[in-house]
Amino acid sequence: MFADIVIVGGGASGMAAAIGAKKTAPEAEVVIAERLDRVGKKLLATGNGRCNLGNKDVSPAHYHGSFRSMSGLLGNIPADEFFRSMGVLCTADEQGRMYPRSNAAATVLSALRMQLDELGVKEVCGFEMSTYLRKGGTYELSSNGGQKFICRKLILAAGGYAAPQYGTDGAVIRLLREKGYRIEKICPAVAPLRVSPDSVKGLKGVRTKGLVQAYSGGKLLAGEEGEIQFTENSLSGICVFNMARYCQEYEGRLEIRLDLAPDMTYDELKVYVLEQRTKRAELELNDLLTGVFAKNLAVYLVKNTIGRPMTDRIADIADKEIEKLCCRIKSLDFTVTGSSPWKSAQVTAGGVHKSCVGDDFGSLLEKGVYLCGEILDMDGDCGGFNLQWAWASGMAAGRNCGDSLKGADR
Ligand SMILES: Cc1cc2nc3c(=O)[nH]c(=O)nc-3n(C[C@H](O)[C@H](O)[C@H](O)COP(=O)(O)OP(=O)(O)OC[C@H]3O[C@@H](n4cnc5c(N)ncnc54)[C@H](O)[C@@H]3O)c2cc1C
Repeated sequence: MFADIVIVGGGASGMAAAIGAKKTAPEAEVVIAERLDRVGKKLLATGNGRCNLGNKDVSPAHYHGSFRSMSGLLGNIPADEFFRSMGVLCTADEQGRMYPRSNAAATVLSALRMQLDELGVKEVCGFEMSTYLRKGGTYELSSNGGQKFICRKLILAAGGYAAPQYGTDGAVIRLLREKGYRIEKICPAVAPLRVSPDSVKGLKGVRTKGLVQAYSGGKLLAGEEGEIQFTENSLSGICVFNMARYCQEYEGRLEIRLDLAPDMTYDELKVYVLEQRTKRAELELNDLLTGVFAKNLAVYLVKNTIGRPMTDRIADIADKEIEKLCCRIKSLDFTVTGSSPWKSAQVTAGGVHKSCVGDDFGSLLEKGVYLCGEILDMDGDCGGFNLQWAWASGMAAGRNCGDSLKGADR
């Protein structure tokens, strides 16, 4: 098989790259080579099936990694305009998170596929690239199934390690490392954080609002308010997801502090609990906090702070115990034991370092190779930032690759 441009990976950035390349070089034969039986499978799972396809605020503060210097590009290709050009209307919520108006990821995928079809981009599914070699002025791609592809230009859009159930197992990143690319340390981002099962015993299934802060060695790294979810061995929820990338830098030294009543000061909280001692005097300690937290969380807090039988009367609780309890509610600490497995992560932190890639997304190591999307060392916060990067880097890589066909080789 021969094509002018082969794009390895039919995910968000690969489809955007194909559109960018074909619009720039309409005469060129552009092919997407995808290992799964269909392109865009991960896209259907994004945003809980609603596809949070971008964010109104694309400031660098929401991005991490060596490609952060390229975040100026994100504003040039706003996701809502990109999709409007394909007939998809988008809306944004109060946090700037953009969704298709239909609230269905399928709308986004079918618009992309219609556009690819209209432009004449070919999809070759079931092609899992195992390696590629430069031969003369072309690249020869081999698949695990023994197929070959020859192309003049190659765009690598094979994603990272996150969510291998959607085709991304990091194999292309490993291949690039073997080829001499600098790969920034890999770790799950936008993912739950593992804590010891003992530290969350009794909390499985609890959801509560609060402030989540990440610390290392007493230094505050980041903080965010939102819904916190507990599992038998992890903390979850969007505000926790956004702390996951710190495992990359602070592995084994990351602490999470929860303020379970960020809307109340310590003193207000103390007044409230003291009030309960009078109003609920004859009830058991089990019920001390059930007016403010879900039952399991209320019991957990009292049980783990005051070492008394939970059947003791509320009236018997001492002032000192109330103070200790209020401190605990305002700062409930967990030691992070690691990030969660790749299958529950949404994004990869780390990847191909910027020092190996030019501002046109062309490889500085291999002539005629371009890279885009999550394969690169750039990850965004939860909230549409990662798809925004996929579209923007994909379009830019595709356009530049298409352009390079016209003139002299890179
Ligand atoms: C459950 C879930 C929900 C998410 N929700 C959101 C959200 O709402 N908003 C947001 O901004 N981000 C979200 N993300 C993250 C976002 O989906 C990714 O950052 C984005 O898809 C990355 O695009 P990409 O094209 O670089 O890689 P991918 O979309 O991962 O695509 C890579 C493609 O390459 C293929 N491939 C891999 N290796 C090979 C190979 N050797 N040969 C051929 N093909 C190969 C894969 O099968 C895959 O189709 C979510 C992720 C997950 C897992």
